[in-house]
Amino acid sequence: MQGTVLYGPRDVRFEERPEPTIVEPTDALIRLPATSVCGSDLWPYRGIAPIDGPTPMGHEYAGIVEEVGSEVRLIEPGQFVVGSFFASDNTCEICRAGYHSSCIHRQPGAPTGAQAQYARIPLADGTLVATPGMPPEEMIPSLLAASDVLGTGWFGAVAAEAGPAKTVAVVGDGAVGLLAVLAAKQMGAERIIAMSRHEPRQRLALEFGATEIVTERGEEGAARIEELTGGLGAHSVVEAVGTQESMMQAIRSTRPGGHVGFVGVLHDVGIPGEEFFFSHVHLHGGPAPVRRFLPELIDLIWERKIDPGKVFDLTLPLEEVAEGYRAMDERRAIKTLLRP
Ligand SMILES: [Zn+2]
Repeated sequence: MQGTVLYGPRDVRFEERPEPTIVEPTDALIRLPATSVCGSDLWPYRGIAPIDGPTPMGHEYAGIVEEVGSEVRLIEPGQFVVGSFFASDNTCEICRAGYHSSCIHRQPGAPTGAQAQYARIPLADGTLVATPGMPPEEMIPSLLAASDVLGTGWFGAVAAEAGPAKTVAVVGDGAVGLLAVLAAKQMGAERIIAMSRHEPRQRLALEFGATEIVTERGEEGAARIEELTGGLGAHSVVEAVGTQESMMQAIRSTRPGGHVGFVGVLHDVGIPGEEFFFSHVHLHGGPAPVRRFLPELIDLIWERKIDPGKVFDLTLPLEEVAEGYRAMDERRAIKTLLRP
C-alpha cells in the first residue's frame, strides 16, 4: 500500500509501505475511505516535537473493517467504524471512569499511520465504535472529524463545564477551537465568544454557534473578555492552542470559580504559581478521552444534528499529502481532507 512518512522537518513523503497485517489477536485492519492532517501533526512537521527517524503519520481515522484478530468479539468485517488517536481497552478502571486516553493498556491508535490506504488498529473491541450502518459518502468527513478534532473540542467544552446560562470563551480558531464552539452550543451555553482574527474562521465559528467574536489576543484578549462579561470573566474557557500566551490568555479570561478546559498539546508552558493561586480558576484538560464521547458524537452526526465535517476546507488526493501539510502550516487551510 501507499502511506505517509515524515523524515524530518517539512519532509513529508508519500511512499510504498508494507501492508498492515494482524499482529495481535485483538487487532483489526481497516480500509480508509478518507483521512486527514491534524493540527498536532504540525508540531513534528515544524521540528518543534522532534522525531527519531522516519515516522508513519496520521492518527485520525474512520473506515471499513477488513479483517479482525481471533480474540475480537464486538467488531466485525464489513462494519464502518470510528476510533481515536489512542487505543484503549474500554474495560479498565480508568476507562470506566471516562479517561480512555490514559487507559492502563493505552497504545497508539493507528501505529501503522492513518494517512494511508489501510491501518492496523490495536484493542479493536475497546477502541472502535461501529456506526449504525454504512454512512453515505458525504457523512464520512464528519465521522472522521469525530475521531479527533470534534472529540477533542468536545472534551475541551466538557472540561470547561460549558452548559446552560454559561458564557464560554474559546481561545484558538483551529479545527479543535471551532468544534469546541459547536460543542458549547450543543451543551446549551448562553453566550459563546470565539477568539479569532481570521475572517473565514470567524464565519465558521458563527455558523457553529458563536454569539460574539473577539479579535484581540493575549492580555488585550483577556481584557476584552472581562469587558464583555461585566468585569467578571467567562465561566468557561476552552484553550485549544497550547502555547504560553494562549494558556495565560485562557486563565486570565476566566472568572474566579470558573473552569479552563485545555486541549491544545502544551509545549513549554509554565504557569506562574502565585497568579494561579489567586485566580481561583479550575484547570482540567490533557489528551482528550475521545472514546468516551464517540457513541454520542456518532449519534449526533448520524441524525444530522451536527456537521463537524465543515472544518475541512481543503480536499486533496492522498498522494498530495505534503501539500496538505504545507497549506495548514501556512494557515491557507483550516484542515485538510485526503482521499485515497
Ligand atoms: Zn482502559
